[in-house]
Amino acid sequence: MQNIRKVSIMYLKGVGEYRAKLLASVGVESVNDLLEFFPKDYIGQSWSEEITDEHIDSLFSCIGEIDEVRERMATTGTRQFIVTIKANEDYIDLIWFRYGKWLTKSFIYGGKIWVSGFLSSFNGRYQIVHPQYEVLNERDQLNDFWKTRSRLPVYPTVGNLTQTQLRNLIYNAFQQHHAYIDETLPDYIINKYKYDDRKTALQKVHFNTKPKNTEFLKDRFVFEELFYQQIMMIKNKNMREKEVKSKPFKLHNTFTKKLLESLPFQLTGAQKRVIQEIFADMQSDNQMSRLLQGDVGSGKTVVTLFAMLLAKENGYQSALMAPTEILADQHFRTISSMLENMPEISIGLLTGGVSKAKNELKRQIIEGEVDIVVGTHALIQKDVLFHNLAFIAVDEQHRFGVHQRAALSLKHKKPDMLYLSATPIPRSLALTIFGELDVSIINELPPTRKPIKTKWIHEHAKTKAYQDIEKEIEAGRQVYIVCPLIEDSEKIDLLAAESLLTELQRFYFPNYKSALLHGKMKAKAKDEIMQLFANNEIQILVSTTVIEVGIDVPNASVMMIEHAERFGLAQLHQLRGRVGRGAEQSYCYLVSYRTTEIAKARLTMMEKSNDGFEIAEKDLELRGPGEFHGKHQSGLPPYKFANLALHQECLNRARADAIELLDDDPKFEKAENQIVKYLYDEYYEGKEKLIDY
Ligand code: ADP
Ligand code: MG
Repeated sequence: MQNIRKVSIMYLKGVGEYRAKLLASVGVESVNDLLEFFPKDYIGQSWSEEITDEHIDSLFSCIGEIDEVRERMATTGTRQFIVTIKANEDYIDLIWFRYGKWLTKSFIYGGKIWVSGFLSSFNGRYQIVHPQYEVLNERDQLNDFWKTRSRLPVYPTVGNLTQTQLRNLIYNAFQQHHAYIDETLPDYIINKYKYDDRKTALQKVHFNTKPKNTEFLKDRFVFEELFYQQIMMIKNKNMREKEVKSKPFKLHNTFTKKLLESLPFQLTGAQKRVIQEIFADMQSDNQMSRLLQGDVGSGKTVVTLFAMLLAKENGYQSALMAPTEILADQHFRTISSMLENMPEISIGLLTGGVSKAKNELKRQIIEGEVDIVVGTHALIQKDVLFHNLAFIAVDEQHRFGVHQRAALSLKHKKPDMLYLSATPIPRSLALTIFGELDVSIINELPPTRKPIKTKWIHEHAKTKAYQDIEKEIEAGRQVYIVCPLIEDSEKIDLLAAESLLTELQRFYFPNYKSALLHGKMKAKAKDEIMQLFANNEIQILVSTTVIEVGIDVPNASVMMIEHAERFGLAQLHQLRGRVGRGAEQSYCYLVSYRTTEIAKARLTMMEKSNDGFEIAEKDLELRGPGEFHGKHQSGLPPYKFANLALHQECLNRARADAIELLDDDPKFEKAENQIVKYLYDEYYEGKEKLIDY
């Protein structure tokens, strides 16, 4: 028998090191991962569908022939690049507002391309703005199997691999390994929901000729993902309730009291309440596993610090793990300054890379000479050993995979765990998806925070907005401008951010300093820019969504978000939370280009509300299929198949079935549950492996 979850794609025909690396970047490492890499769309081999009213204002894909390629100057003074294609008897204009030279060179008259995007009708012409596309290369041959199919799958972009290459790869994976596609759900579940068996379902997903059925086909995989997640969670919770800590903490009121007295502000009522909840857990016999939810700026850091000082009062070490170096660095500085008058507490900052200083810090951590360690996932490297780590906080917890979170906790003896999340999730949903955690909520902002004035504007009103923004800069304030990063076309987006920066420097803000910050930059370069911005040596920071997480520059009072229609509510709210941190009135501009009804509802909601929990409720309500959502923005665990906005019904079924199974057969002893036992064990084996890598 062969376990395709453990067979590397390197063993497939046509996959060498280079392709393996590309595929790994989208999470495809094993043969099973590749089979679970699902098409996002299907297209006919010979496109024959005519455009009708029904297609307008919705997602549309087709193959067409390039008829005309040109640039033009729009009335607003900006340049546009237009490619007209002929698809069947219709002409469609593909339009780019921001582009670089390389784009204009990619199209050849008469060539065939596949395009997909939001189809609209403008002055009697069909158009798609910033489409996804693929130039079809005649030499790029489909294999004999695909040639005969009436419909072809269209896969998400993987580096520079063409669709043809991806199709051939997936076909090869089936050819070589179909005999080893084992069932992963118990029979009684499959029968109950009339699902296809795993192999059939996978075949239908990739080689399906009736694409209308795909939602039902995928339901099997969504269910499976949620079902196992619920099983893990409920089982973890059951185990945790039986676990006893080596030693519960005692509240000595030494360092904790000193901190309370030295804070330059009063804690809010909500902060006091959650500190009590956390302290109660830490003083109990059971290991704490608590989710701390609080809107951006609600003051989670200081709450965390109280917990760390309780650990210190009892002679233990604590750690705070942040998802990025910028954030870790900021936490380190905040905590250091809050503890300025407690020199007896030693704090360390541990991020990636190697150096003498880091080795020395690691030694101090082992010896117990450092009390509080702030860091990135460098903290879970195997050579980082603690003397007696007893409290761990994980900031922006959804940015870490289950494995990473578990690794930190499993490395030590039942430390108290606090997971921080700035994305408010409705309590009912939080209880289901974070079912193994207790939940604390900070539902109150410090009184010093003024609501941010939010304005939704259309693209052509930007010049006016820039004028208003200039007044803010003249008054000494600073500005963030965010450009979205769509995973499918990072290159285009980066260009967009770069050309926006040039435009700002040349035309709108020639007298001020501006700079670009993006995720592809080296950590050091990022830190330098952030430092300059923090010191107001840069007034305008243009960035991709890297600044989304907890950056704190109180002097910044304007947030402008480009293509706001592409973001979900939760992410818009997160981004907006970067301003409004100082004493001044802050502003948020949401710039939209083309808007669906859902996007309109979202942007209106943002203008109306500053309340993260209210926004979170609405966010779930408003999510639709096919909408753009970035990878990490929702504050929910990363799912491969499930989208909780769409699959709540499936989540409820999965949870009910998981509870029933664990009530009935908690140790997976029945024959019918052997599949579950096998996968459960395999999951934990994986965890162990991760820890001593
Ligand atoms: P977040 O919950 O987004 O992580 P932070 O912990 O970064 O929020 O806090 C945001 C800012 O508010 C910090 O500058 C912090 O010092 C300040 N702050 C925290 N609690 C209070 C309070 N009760 N009153 C006034 N300011 C506070
Ligand atoms: Mg924070």
